[in-house]
Amino acid sequence: MDAGSGSGPDLSAHARGLFIGGAWRDGETGGRIAVVDPSTEAVLAHVPDATVADAVAAVDAAAAAAPAWAATPPRRRSEILRRCFELMVERADALATLISLENGKALRDARGEVAYAAEFFRWNAEEAVRISGDFAVAPAGTNRIVVDYQPIGIAVLITPWNFPAAMATRKIAPALAAGCTVVLKPASETPLTAYALADLYAEAGVPAGVVNVITTSTPGPVTAAMLGDPRVRKLSFTGSTGVGRILLAEAAKSVISCSMELGGNAPVIVFDDADLDVAIEGVMLAKMRNAGEACTAANRIYVQSGIHDAFVARLTERMTALKVGPGVDPSTECGPMITPAAVAKIGRLVEDAKQRGGTVLCGGTVAGGTGYFYPPTVITDVAPDAAMAHEEIFGPVAPVSRFDTEDEVVARANDTEYGLAAYVFTRDIGRGLRVSSRLEAGMIGLNRGLVSDPAAPFGGVKQSGLGREGGHHGVLEFLEPKYVAVTF
Ligand code: NAP
Repeated sequence: MDAGSGSGPDLSAHARGLFIGGAWRDGETGGRIAVVDPSTEAVLAHVPDATVADAVAAVDAAAAAAPAWAATPPRRRSEILRRCFELMVERADALATLISLENGKALRDARGEVAYAAEFFRWNAEEAVRISGDFAVAPAGTNRIVVDYQPIGIAVLITPWNFPAAMATRKIAPALAAGCTVVLKPASETPLTAYALADLYAEAGVPAGVVNVITTSTPGPVTAAMLGDPRVRKLSFTGSTGVGRILLAEAAKSVISCSMELGGNAPVIVFDDADLDVAIEGVMLAKMRNAGEACTAANRIYVQSGIHDAFVARLTERMTALKVGPGVDPSTECGPMITPAAVAKIGRLVEDAKQRGGTVLCGGTVAGGTGYFYPPTVITDVAPDAAMAHEEIFGPVAPVSRFDTEDEVVARANDTEYGLAAYVFTRDIGRGLRVSSRLEAGMIGLNRGLVSDPAAPFGGVKQSGLGREGGHHGVLEFLEPKYVAVTF
């Protein structure tokens, strides 16, 4: 297998083929997809380009493995998931480096991602043995109601490039805990982590065919073929709202159960009475984790007039001081964007905001050179009709707007089709909880800039998604209740 440009690290171990039925195999046509390091623009490796026939082979393998996996005792499934957790922790450094290489994110963010991704195995190892049914007397007293939870069936999992490990384990771990077998299609930009983890699952004892991984440059027809296969009963997708809409329409043809983790446009609200240190730390985390390439990233920062100027001064100081560089450099705090198209989109949004009256206080200009870099940027007086107030920026740009009243800021925060995450900073906990309940979002960070937790239900309202991952909810997405009415 091609190891890439020859000058970079040898990643050929993670590009051995499609992972189907526990074996590495070439795709039908032998086509390849290049994986590029966004920090250097060097080709890291080439992975196989699966066709519809390859996808059907992956579903065949998942179907062959399904009965035995569903019948495997929960305790055994739990122990295998626990072993996946332990192996991920043991190999955290190597996995983090791989993520940094193919995604570009700073090593410290990649290490955080590996720890988060591994936790889904630990959490779901615990969930696997706690899936319980119901037994009740029917209200009429005529019979009993018995409810059993069964694996929903073969699941197709589609994941984005921004968290190459965590978005996959957040689906695979609960699916396996529930007794489902899966076909994972990772993003074309970051497939190496998914393939590295396939090796790890096999070593942990996941039987052949339970997890299959395929990469493709034609996700539309490949996914449609899998969703049209009557053996597939579940689609779990994480990605943009636009692609989510396409997949919902495709899944509707076979009435497949869908869990959708889609785009975000998170507002941050900083009230006058906020602790400025806490607000700055929280906003830096909410904005700059993954260099802004996160669905939960702060996309609009509303600051009350009394604290506005002090907040902007501190934020600009912190953003200016960030070290920009290649992800694998341990001193890097802000890595490159994933593609040149991502850089161009951010540039377009910043230009639009400037034309509508915004003032750039730092960054805002691409330096050029090698790698897909965009500098940390603060822009103030962002107009309500600026494109960046409505579209995901997905980059290191902090747009700040001033507000005066609670009602005004709640209306502005909710003025979006998205509803994933939101953040509120105030010392008045009553106000914090009141505003949290008024915000149209699935998750709120109250005086903190991080909401992701494997033990909590992650997901959005409005066009940010359907269903939840993590917490007790995550495993339920891969289970169907079976009700038996019984008289005795
Ligand atoms: P994307 O373009 O929607 O792609 C996501 C996945 O869908 C990739 O694997 C992609 O494959 C695949 N795909 C693209 N077109 C498809 C089609 N027609 N049929 C089937 N699959 C298709 O999203 P992205 O750019 O990778 O990721 C960024 C987006 O994900 C942002 O909107 C972000 O907010 C969202 N996100 C949401 C969450 C959440 O939990 N809510 C978490 C992370 C990211 P290719 O790579 O081959 O195109």
